[in-house]
Amino acid sequence: MAAPSTIAGRIAAIRQRLDTLAIEAGRTPGSVTLLPVSKTFDDAAVREAIAAGMTRFGENKAQDIRARAASLADTPAQWVMIGHLQTNKAKEIARHASEIQSLDRRELALALQRRLELEGRSLDALVQVKTSPEPSKFGLDPEELEDFLRFLATETPRLKVQGLMTMAVNDADPQAVRACFRRLRELRDAMRERGIPGVSLERLSMGMSGDYELAVAEGSTEVRIGSAIFGDRSYNAA
Ligand SMILES: *Cc1c(COP(=O)(O)O)cnc(C)c1O
Repeated sequence: MAAPSTIAGRIAAIRQRLDTLAIEAGRTPGSVTLLPVSKTFDDAAVREAIAAGMTRFGENKAQDIRARAASLADTPAQWVMIGHLQTNKAKEIARHASEIQSLDRRELALALQRRLELEGRSLDALVQVKTSPEPSKFGLDPEELEDFLRFLATETPRLKVQGLMTMAVNDADPQAVRACFRRLRELRDAMRERGIPGVSLERLSMGMSGDYELAVAEGSTEVRIGSAIFGDRSYNAA
C-alpha cells in the first residue's frame, strides 16, 4: 500500500498502525505514543504536523532546538532532545526543551541540574541505554544502569526520570533488532524489581521508521518517527 501523500495523512496512518500493533501485543489502543522527529525538515513541515494535532517533536541538536523554539514560538510545540548532547550545550536544553531522551552520563546530568536550577525549571528525562554492539551508538552501558538511576534519584532532582530509551542495531535481521528492544524491556523490568525510589520507569522509547513494528511487539510505549512522516532525509544529508 502506498503511503499517504500528506504529512497529516501519514501521521493518521501510523497512529492507526500503532493501535493495531498495540492490540496485537495485548495492549490497549492509544497506549503507544507517537513522537514525530522533525530534525532536518523545515518549519513548514512542522507546522503541518502541528495542524494535524502533534505538539511534541524530537530534535537531535541543541542549536536546532533553540532555533525551533524561536521560530515556532507562536505554536504549542514542545521540544524533545533525542540526540547526543555535549555537556557544554546543557544550557540550551535546560532553557528550551521540555524533555531529554538521551541522558547517558553523570557529567551531563549534573550540568543539566545546575542549568535547570538557574532557569527555575525541571525536565522530563529518559536514560539512553546502549543495547547494540555498534561502537557508533551512544548510550549508557547496561551494567551501569542501576547505579546511574540511583545517582539521578538523589543528585539531580530537577531531572524527572520516567523511563528508558534505546536505538536498535542497524541490521537486516529482524531478530537482531528485536533483541535490542527486548533487552531494554528486560532491563526496565529488572530495575523495577529493585525499586529505586523517585524513579518511574513507565516509559520505553524505542522504535523508529524502519523498526517500530518490532519495538511495539517488545513493549515500546513511544516510537520516534522521522522519515515515515516527513519524507526522505537523504537529499539534504550534506
Ligand atoms: C533521526 C532519529 C529518529 C528517527 O529516525 P527515522 O528513521 O527518520 O524515523 C529516531 N531516534 C533518533 C535518536 C534519531 O536520531
